[in-house]
Amino acid sequence: MIYPSIESLHSALHAGQTSCAELVKEALQRAEEKADLNIFIELFPETARAQARAVDAKLAAGTAGPLAGVTIALKDNLCFKGHGVSAGSNMLRGFESQFTATVVQRLIDADAIILGRTGCDEFAMGSSNETSAYGPVKNPVDPSLTPGGSSGGSAAAVAAGICHAALGSDTGGSIRQPAAFTGTYGVKPTYGRVSRHGVIAYASSFDQVGPFARSLDDLARITEVISGADAFDTTCSERPVPAMGPIPAERPFTFGYYKEVLDNPALDAEIRQYFFDRVDQLKAAGHRVEALDFPYLDALVPIYYILTTAEASSNLARYDGVHIGHRSEKATDLESLYKKSRSEGFGEEVQRRILLGTFVLSAGYFDAFYGKAQKARRVVRDATLEALTQVDALIGPTTPHTAFPLGQEYTDPTVLYLEDIFTVQAPIAGIPAMNIPAGPHSNGLPFGMQIMAGPFDEPKLFQAAHILDCL
Ligand code: GLN
Repeated sequence: MIYPSIESLHSALHAGQTSCAELVKEALQRAEEKADLNIFIELFPETARAQARAVDAKLAAGTAGPLAGVTIALKDNLCFKGHGVSAGSNMLRGFESQFTATVVQRLIDADAIILGRTGCDEFAMGSSNETSAYGPVKNPVDPSLTPGGSSGGSAAAVAAGICHAALGSDTGGSIRQPAAFTGTYGVKPTYGRVSRHGVIAYASSFDQVGPFARSLDDLARITEVISGADAFDTTCSERPVPAMGPIPAERPFTFGYYKEVLDNPALDAEIRQYFFDRVDQLKAAGHRVEALDFPYLDALVPIYYILTTAEASSNLARYDGVHIGHRSEKATDLESLYKKSRSEGFGEEVQRRILLGTFVLSAGYFDAFYGKAQKARRVVRDATLEALTQVDALIGPTTPHTAFPLGQEYTDPTVLYLEDIFTVQAPIAGIPAMNIPAGPHSNGLPFGMQIMAGPFDEPKLFQAAHILDCL
């Protein structure tokens, strides 16, 4: 069985009702049974069984770590030495990690068990899982729907009850949106809270790794384990990692929401109503809720797509068929080797973004696009931090609507980009943000509430989430 929380799992392990070996056996079985959801690109059965044996021995000796026996799936952009990793791309099909990402190592050191790698949009670029070279993951809630993207496989692995938790990465919403679409908890920590060493880069000033879980408490435990300074990543903060709770708040909180978000025409009417019902409940429970102005909502998606494509065009330059990645068989000279390798290896969306990013960085356009977007990012960050001096946390819907059918929106990339409208603010501002499950909608599907807090204030983020979760 899948235990509802790490706490209950540990009680069962300590009472001898189960063992890590048993947990792994069951998880692998469930993964096989649900193979038609296309969640895993690859399972790591040998590794998982070996880890299970080692952790069972530690449990017997009383030396097991804080995540003992917790089965975890990795998004296919996290390196685990000796195991395949491909970022959902043909460019890296068959590639094996040369070293282990810090986040993965920390999970292993805490005695978690790594089950396999999950499907994601190619190089984490997408909102529906449909840019993956391995075909989209299907939403366990309804297989005709997208699980969201880009970390859709990790969200689905948790929602389908295959493993206890999963890691994803979030550049513009890739943890929070799939969490909303699958009814799971997901957090994007503050930029710099978690090491990016061993994470296949998309946009380096945005990317952060975070967990998916079935409860707030589990989410906090895993975030604590993966957080903290790392000598391999100089953008990773030296700040000590606080306990993330969820510790009940000792005083009433002040929540803020943006009028422009709730008035947005794209927002589903029922999700909007649900939000205002929650606001009423918060007030009834003694909390303050303030409506704030945010005049920059329409600028967020353009800022995000200019800056992230610029960073991606630079990050993905290394995949040239010489140093790393797919190498074309059809090349006749060096230039054609580069061109053909990159044209064959990258999918359509990744190529689109490399072209866009190269354009916004090119001489003559740099100031008009990249330079301006950088300035706009600062304006958004300042405005966001200013709002967070007035309120403890910002709340709103995570996505404008519930999960959409696979195949529906992918024909028009700009429609898909607008899916990110509520989630890109947090990574633009570098602040932590979380999805907690909400719903169900009258269409039967889950959706999510988003919570944002000040930089490095994950304890407050978890407290705010706890308040909402207990309503
Ligand atoms: N949907 C967004 C994009 O396509 C977010 C992706 C992400 O967070 N990795 O870029």
